[in-house]
Amino acid sequence: HAKASGGGVFSGYHPRMREGLVDRLELESDLRAALENGDLRLHYQPTVDLATSEVIGFEALARWPHPTRGMINPLDFIPIAEATGLIVPLGRWVLHEACRQAVEWGMAGDGRPPKMSVNVSVRQFDRADLSEMVSTVLAETGMPADRLCLEMTESVLMTDTEANLEQLLRLKALGLTLAIDDFGTGYSSLAYLRRFPVDTLKIDRSFVERLGVIADDTALTDTIVRLGKSLGMATVAEGIEEFGQLAALREMGCGFAQGYYFSRPVPAAEAGRLFLEGANA
Ligand code: C2E
Ligand code: MG
Ligand code: MG
Ligand code: MG
Repeated sequence: HAKASGGGVFSGYHPRMREGLVDRLELESDLRAALENGDLRLHYQPTVDLATSEVIGFEALARWPHPTRGMINPLDFIPIAEATGLIVPLGRWVLHEACRQAVEWGMAGDGRPPKMSVNVSVRQFDRADLSEMVSTVLAETGMPADRLCLEMTESVLMTDTEANLEQLLRLKALGLTLAIDDFGTGYSSLAYLRRFPVDTLKIDRSFVERLGVIADDTALTDTIVRLGKSLGMATVAEGIEEFGQLAALREMGCGFAQGYYFSRPVPAAEAGRLFLEGANA
């Protein structure tokens, strides 16, 4: 018996589970407070045009500097935000801040904001007013819709397919672009890809990582680039860390890339410098 052994009231109980729960509840209330107090930050990772090596835009990535735990990784707090519904106000904040920042950089340069990519969780699609929220934020910040890209994973295509398709069509109608993030790791079928108004495929880092090392991954990457081309979609490779990967992707005809080889995600001030230097070069 779990009870007889003194471990707890139900079988399979471990003290660590309780710690995990307390931890999670504490993180949840801390996250709520951080959002309300404006303590969250965005870092920006450049997207590079592989043909010209120019920085054409940025992806906004949420950061949570926690007062006692240090910097918390989005992979650790986005799931909490999703499970609690906090993702809705958090997602709105990220979009607003990223658009506001892009417009500010544009005004410091030639007036044209950089292209800005923002991650949208599948949970945000549960809300019927996602496209209204986006349209409001565009109006509030003065961000031109055609400078905004929304990134979503394949799960948006695979769950609540009809409702999400409608949402995506409404978003497209605003004039922005849509990207499938981490492409190749989910289960979206080719039929879905053709049906959905997707502009860009972001090739998951796990393929890029093993480029030239594992023949199957090299072949798959090549296949995704060709798939993108034949469907008239742009391709962005994620997670380039080495020159060899860059050379291979260029050879395959992949259009764009991100990765530590070019730049890690950096705070706004540094990203602004990258953008304005690029614009003056
Ligand atoms: P993602 O959208 O696929 O973003 C790419 C992740 O890969 C980022 O991790 C980035 O820092 C990392 N990365 C970029 N280049 C390299 C590289 O060369 N090597 C390696 N090892 N990693 C690289 P990050 O910032 O920790 O974000 C993780 C994930 O959290 C994101 O994956 C995205 O799914 C989610 N996320 C981040 N910010 C937001 C947000 O504002 N909203 C939502 N819904 N999700 C977010
Ligand atoms: Mg992304
Ligand atoms: Mg990704
Ligand atoms: Mg990823």
